[in-house]
This record gives sequence, C-alpha cells and structure tokens, in this order.
Amino acid sequence: MSTTSPTLVWFRRDFRLDDNGALAAAAEKGGPVVPVFILDPDVDQLGAAPAWRLEQAIEHFGAVLEGMGSRLILRRGKALDMLRDLVAETGAGAVHWNRYYQPQVVARDREVKAALKEDGLEACSFDGMVLRDPWEVRTQSGDPYRVYSPFWKSLRGMDIPAPRDPPGALPAPDTWPESERLADWGLGGAMNRGAEIVAGHARIGEAAARDRLDEFLDGSVARYAADRNRLDRPDATSGLSEPLAWGEISPRRIFHTVQGRDAAGTKGAEKFLSELGWRDFAWHIHHSFPALAEENWSDGWDNFPWREENDDAEAWQRGLTGEEMVDAAMRELYVTGRMHNRARMLVASYLTKHYLVHWRVGLRWFEHCLIDWDPASNGMGWQWVAGSGPDAAPYFRVFNPALQAEKFDPKGSYRRLYLDPEADGANAFLRAVPRSWGLGEGARPDTPRISLKDGRDRALGAYEAMKSGR
Ligand code: FAD
Repeated sequence: MSTTSPTLVWFRRDFRLDDNGALAAAAEKGGPVVPVFILDPDVDQLGAAPAWRLEQAIEHFGAVLEGMGSRLILRRGKALDMLRDLVAETGAGAVHWNRYYQPQVVARDREVKAALKEDGLEACSFDGMVLRDPWEVRTQSGDPYRVYSPFWKSLRGMDIPAPRDPPGALPAPDTWPESERLADWGLGGAMNRGAEIVAGHARIGEAAARDRLDEFLDGSVARYAADRNRLDRPDATSGLSEPLAWGEISPRRIFHTVQGRDAAGTKGAEKFLSELGWRDFAWHIHHSFPALAEENWSDGWDNFPWREENDDAEAWQRGLTGEEMVDAAMRELYVTGRMHNRARMLVASYLTKHYLVHWRVGLRWFEHCLIDWDPASNGMGWQWVAGSGPDAAPYFRVFNPALQAEKFDPKGSYRRLYLDPEADGANAFLRAVPRSWGLGEGARPDTPRISLKDGRDRALGAYEAMKSGR
C-alpha cells in the first residue's frame, strides 16, 4: 500500500489533537488525513443531554480542524457501510481509530476491523482512553480485579505511557469527500429550551479542558483531599469528567501533567489521581461485565423487591421529593447537566433505598441528563450505591440527606442556590428555568413523601428479607 494514500481517522469519543494515537499515527505517515465522524444508529443512541453535548463536541472540533486546514467529514449510517463509501471516494488505504470500551462499540469495531482487513485495507485501533487497557491490569491469577484498592495499587505501580504530541500538520486530500451538515442531525433537539441553560455550564473543547486542568493544579488541588466532598465548594474538584467523557482530554495527559507539577506526590495530587483511577476501574469492570447498565453485578440481588417507575421516581427526577438536599441536587443535574459526586451518591441512595426504586431507573435518568455521561462510571456508580455493584457500599449504609447537608453544605449555600429564587449567583436555579417546568415556588411539598426513618427502616427490612430468602 502506498504510504501516500489517504488515511481515514475515525473519531468517536476522542475529540482532541493531543495524545490521540490514531491521529498521530496517520499524520506520521505523511499522506493525506481525512478525519471522519459517523453517527451510527446501532451505537449512538444517546440521551438528550449527552446527544446535545456530542453536537457541541463535534462542532467545536470541526472548527479546530478547519483552523489547521483540515475538516471533519460527517456521515450518518452503519459504520462499516460509511467507511467503505469513504474509502471508495477518497482512495484511502488505511482506517485508524482509538478504542472505546463500551460493549456494543467493542462488538461493532471487531466486525468493522475484520471486514476492512478483508477488503485489503490497513485497519488499526489505538489505546489511550484509559490509563492502561483493561486487560493489562490483572490479579496474580490473571483475573480482572473486583475490588478498587488492590486495582489502584497495581495500576499506580505500573508505567503510564507518556501522552503523544499533537500532530504539527494534517495534510488535506486533493478533493474532500462530501460531508453531511451537523445541524441536519438535530442532536440537540430533545433538549428543547433546556439547551440554552445547560450551555451556560458546559466547558467545550480541548483548550478549555487544558485550561481547567492548569487552573485546578495551580489552585484547588492543594485542598482537594479535604474539600472534594464539599457541596458548597464546586471548584474544589477538577470538573474534568465532562471533557474526559468526550475525549477532549486524555487521562494520560492528566496523569503526566500532575506528575510534572510542584503538587506531584502531595496528598491532594495523590487523592486526585486515585479518583482518576476510579474511572479506569469503572471501564475495567464494564469491559469484563458488559451488562453493567442492565444487570446486577453481584449475585443474589435479582430477588430484591425493587420498585419500577412510579410517582416517587417522578418526584425524584423533578426535584420534588420534599427532601431539601435531594431536590437541590436533582435540580443541579437538570440545570447544569452535571452533579457533584457527593450529591450523586446521595440521590442514588435516596432513590434506591428510601424509595426502593430500581437503580436502573436512576441510571437511565442520569443517562438522559448528564453532559459528562459515561456508561462505565454511571453503571458502576449506581450499582455501587445500590449495593449490587463491585466494591459496593454496604447495603446498610443508607445516606441520611440531613446529616450529609450538615457536613457538606453546612451553611446551606448549595441548597439555596437551587431551591431559593432569591439566592445570589447568576445560576440561581429558579430564575434560570422556564416557568413551564413547574419547579417554581410552592411546587415542592412541605413534607417529604416518606420520612427519613421510615424510608431507612423499609430499605433495611427489604434487604434483610432478601438475605434470608423470604
Ligand atoms: P474530580 O473529583 O475532579 O475527579 C477527577 C476525575 O476522576 C473525574 O473527572 C472522573 O473522571 C474521575 N472520578 C472521580 N470520581 C469518580 C467515581 N466515583 N467514579 C468514576 N470516576 C470518578 N462520572 C462520570 O464521568 N460520568 C457519569 O455518568 C457518572 N455517573 C455517576 C453516577 C453515580 C450514581 C455516581 C455515584 C457517580 C457517577 N460518576 C460519573 C462519578 C463521579 O460522580 C464524577 O466522575 C465526578 O462527579 C466528576 O466530577 P469531577 O470531574 O470534578 O471529579
């Protein structure tokens, strides 16, 4: 194959120039590079907020490529068909992509790779979406880890490959293939007017992610270990889950940037890296247990008396439970497309324990609302809190929203921001959302739908019954 024939670089969840193995290898060949994004109906079935955020990522990255004299070619359809069309149109001799370990993507990519090779093309996949690939971190007996601490100990002791530099240039083909128009895909459509509001809270693109990383490492990382659970200090954490979810920054870039700073080795920096390790752990688990978003990871939970969609679940979704902390957090999610980790644990516990609603119901709502939606972290997070997951919180650990508020929002500023229409701050929730959402003053019940004590007792009773097989 001529080294100067074009290479298709197939972007998926890796909208970055930096540490992008597929792109770097294509550029190194010296021939034309044709960047492509394919909206594949088989795997790109996204909730409203992630679909909108994908649109932002594509638009932004397309503009970055254009600034380099390149383009992002858009096609919609079955990936293999689209790639074959593009190979025929451009005369490409190779297709490159970075691996993404969502099970349906893995299965599709396997077929695509085999078919392209049969067509006589070079089909190469690259690493870089996690610190180390799932099959590289194994127990002594060669099995996947099931518990986080030994997993992290093992991963922390391994070399993390250095990030690859961004390509200096991306040679254009003689003729660009046709591209569909992003606007015609209507990816943001399901957000309706909510898109405008969430947009005010999103940080889009590679440059914004790198700036945020620098800002975090110059400041908050010093107090990260102490403050990361504080709901009233939103800047205490990095906020990098959003660009990580869309591949606008690589975990290896984050890891090595931390290691190159004065903060390296401090308590804050080590804690931060170990949190990044949870992301790897989630993908490690998802890779070995593809049904993470559907089935209980631990045996014995299939008989738990979960309730399905019901009025309680709807009140929870809309922030109308009457429990202040829960309602504030659910509104944070709806307005910003994000939620603090402490709040995610708290609302997940409330839904699955106080309301006994199946974790899948909550998982799907998050999948619909999060702009940092990540199938592995979301699946693991829900099962971890519910008790059915890997390394799970013990079932009897029922988060008490009132105690959590005292500890992590002692002056009530987090709750005020999302519940009080007169609160200070440009994002005061009730002023930002349209009236038609029905979340205004007076909409929340004065008393919770179930008391903290009754909810806890009912949950523990259900757990006891499950354990004793009643
Ligand atoms: P930081 O505290 O700055 O941490 C740095 C990075 O470490 C994060 O960006 C993230 O990549 C990783 N990380 C931190 N905590 C976790 C964790 N518990 N699990 C996995 N990775 C972690 N995270 C997502 O990215 N997408 C999701 O869809 C998602 N759903 C969740 C659902 C539930 C029920 C729970 C309990 C957690 C979920 N998480 C999810 C994990 C966590 O809440 C977010 O990663 C975190 O809030 C992101 O904020 P940050 O970037 O400021 O984190």
